[in-house]
Amino acid sequence: MAGSSPASGDAFDPVRQHLRDPSHDLDVGPGWRQLVVECHEAVVAEFPEYELLAVKQKWATLAFQAFPRPWKPGGNWTTAEYSRLHAVTGAFADRSEAICERCGAEGSLRENRPVHRVLCDRCEPLVPGHGPL
Ligand SMILES: [Zn+2]
Repeated sequence: MAGSSPASGDAFDPVRQHLRDPSHDLDVGPGWRQLVVECHEAVVAEFPEYELLAVKQKWATLAFQAFPRPWKPGGNWTTAEYSRLHAVTGAFADRSEAICERCGAEGSLRENRPVHRVLCDRCEPLVPGHGPL
């Protein structure tokens, strides 16, 4: 695999602690790492026990897929809590639409690619159409 992530002590560690499946890694480009950390901080401030299912790029925006609390049969949160969580993560999805997923600079949606991504002009020629960042 091209590119490696630090083995330990990186900024994602507090985020990973909320993963339902600890073997599942967070799948976003380096330009969005700060955004993911900020999203985590906003969510955990309101939902300290939130459960994280996945963090990834979906339809060229940041998808921070979480539940207010660990899922239980019969439900473990109210509709209002779920809506509130979505409002928080949605705000970060909106922000991701203007942040280059590769470098974190101001970017825009590139629809002329097999996989749509938000990139800046400098990164656009450097990222393969289907490939990793
Ligand atoms: Zn860039």
